[in-house]
Amino acid sequence: MENENTLSGSQKLVRFFSSKSKFEKIKAESKLWKFTCDCGKESSIWEIGGVRSGAKGKPSMYIKCPACGKGGMKKIEKV
Ligand SMILES: [Zn+2]
Repeated sequence: MENENTLSGSQKLVRFFSSKSKFEKIKAESKLWKFTCDCGKESSIWEIGGVRSGAKGKPSMYIKCPACGKGGMKKIEKV
């Protein structure tokens, strides 16, 4: 069971407006979207409190690395 306190604001919002199965699907997909920081740490969009579902391509997002705390525009990629 997921601790509610580990969800970010946007993730809570998605859960509120989605059924449990839909939310699990969105969560699983968000975990497939990844980026690699200059420090070498690979994180998923979900790990950094983001939500990404039903998207394609390699967009750039402003992301703050959870390991080194450095923020910047990063290309995210679905793996
Ligand atoms: Zn980093």
